[in-house]
Order: sequence, then C-alpha cells, then structure tokens
Amino acid sequence: MISDFLHDIEKEALSGKGISCDEGCTLAYIDEIHLFDILASAERIRRHFKGIEINLCSIVNAKSGLCAEDCTFCSQSIYYDTGVDTYPMITAEKIVKSALEASSRGSREFSIVTSGTGIDKSKEIKTMVSAIKGIADKSEIESCASLGIIKMETLKTLRDSGLHSYHHNLETARSFFPNVCNTHDYDEDVNTVKMAKELGFNVCSGGVFGLGESWEQRIELAETLREIDVDSIPINFLNPRPNTPLEGANRLTPKECLKIIALYRFMFPDKDIVICGGRDINLRDLQCLIFAAGANGMMIGNYLTTPGRSTDKDIRMVKDLGLKPRR
Ligand code: SF4
Repeated sequence: MISDFLHDIEKEALSGKGISCDEGCTLAYIDEIHLFDILASAERIRRHFKGIEINLCSIVNAKSGLCAEDCTFCSQSIYYDTGVDTYPMITAEKIVKSALEASSRGSREFSIVTSGTGIDKSKEIKTMVSAIKGIADKSEIESCASLGIIKMETLKTLRDSGLHSYHHNLETARSFFPNVCNTHDYDEDVNTVKMAKELGFNVCSGGVFGLGESWEQRIELAETLREIDVDSIPINFLNPRPNTPLEGANRLTPKECLKIIALYRFMFPDKDIVICGGRDINLRDLQCLIFAAGANGMMIGNYLTTPGRSTDKDIRMVKDLGLKPRR
C-alpha cells in the first residue's frame, strides 16, 4: 500500500535519518496520481526541521562566458556559440553594490559566481577578498562564492577574509557525468566540495536535473552528496539554452520537478534544499508547490545568464503561503 510506505518513510525521515536509496527508488516510481500524498508528507518533514522560514538567496555573475569546460547545458562554454555576454571579473565595488541590492530585496545570502574552471589569478583573488570584506562591512548578508575547482590556499584566503559558504555543484551523478562534461573529472568536483567542507565552510552543492539522467542517477547524486555531508543542496532544472547540445532536450514536467524536490527532502530531511535555476520555466504555475514538496529555500532575482521572475512576486508567494523569509 502506498499510504503505508509513505507513512513508514516519513517516520524514518522525521527521525533525522534520510531514507535509503532503495526506498528513494520506490518513492521515485510511485505513480504521479499520488503526488499530493507525497507532497503532504514532504511538507511535514520540511516543517518539522525547518519551520516556516524560507532562505532566499541571490547571485551575481561576476565573470561571464569564455569557459574552457564543455558542460553540455551551459551557455558560458567556449565550445558553443550561444552569444552570451562575456566579460572578465567585475570590480569589487560592483560586487558589493549587487550584494546590497540583493539584501534590500530580502535575500539573506549572496553568491559571487564566476565562469571558468576556477580562479587563480592573483588579481581575481584580490578582487574577491576586497568584495567579501566590503559586503561584511556594509551589510549583514551572508557571502557565498561559486568559483569552480579551486586551490586550497585560495579557499583558505577567502575563508580568512570572511567568506561564509562555498558553492560547487556536482551537476549530476558520477555515472552520468561523461554525458555532461568531458573536460574535467568528476573527482575534481567531488574533491573541491570535500575540501570546502574540511575548511569549515557552509557547503552548498547539488545539481542540474533534466539533463537526460534516470531516477536512479538522481538518487546516485543524492547519495554522493550525502557521503560528503553537504549542508545545502541547490536544485536546478534545465532551461535548455539555444546552441548548446541540450538545446532540444525534453523539459521536465512540473510534477516531475516536484517529485525530485520531495525525493531530496526525504533523503536529506534536515538539510537546506534550495530551488535555483529553471524554476519558473519548468514549474510554471506550480512553482508555489516547491515548499510543499520540501524546499526551504529559493533563489530570487536574475540567474546567471537568464532573467528571473520579479522578486516582489516571489516574496509575495512566500508570504501568501504563510511562510516567511528568513532574516
Ligand atoms: S557550468 Fe561552469 S564549468 Fe561548466 S561550462 Fe558553465 S561556467 Fe564552465
């Protein structure tokens, strides 16, 4: 019986122990006719561990395009002629200004994101240090950085400057990664995330869904993230970009997106689950159900290379649901 199974796995998740991969697989294949039963259960788990507070975060694309990696979903790779804006790292002043704007819009976390395999030029590191200090001096917003595969020394420098979180997505399961990227090894990503964890960062790592991966591979990714014990899991849904290899990829359905979120809430009962890129285009009018599915965070404002929904609408959606932005 589906109801018995949901009752059992909800109990397991409420104990703080995420459900097993086998249980995750059973959950993934429950017919969508039962989706609202799954959501009711996921919502209780979210509420138990996270209450009614929702983490809102924003990003700035601090260095755009010209990336030497070949990630098939990404418009910033040099392998694809996407016409995306390209520019070197912006100044620390511009980054701080973006952070202050994000704070005034209601974000509690602000991430500085750069394209490319990683940063190692001393000028870029100096800009980052100055931006992190500037943000801390002028606001209470928590700073996060997403700078790719990074050296330990650089990460220590950023930590000592006051950086709170490090973000680095694994993107997908190890077994599916060769379909997504062939210019670096999966282990380089895993090691970056592990290193950030070892250095005491709040670590934010998740993936992009809808790349053609199976449910089993979604669970495989979750298991890897669980082994590393990441603190926050960003969930992105593919927004197929023109002239990338995934331009014509089949979109996920809104219900499938909700099921992915719920699956992750059952597997990570007490972690932060943050819905990021591709929310509006994939979930459309069902996007308010992301919190019922178990999310306790959402990116607001613009994405890296595509515009986001109006922040006012997003904040109103949170409040209309009886939830409140976490300060
Ligand atoms: S996802 Fe990151 S590493 Fe991959 S191509 Fe885009 S900017 Fe480069």
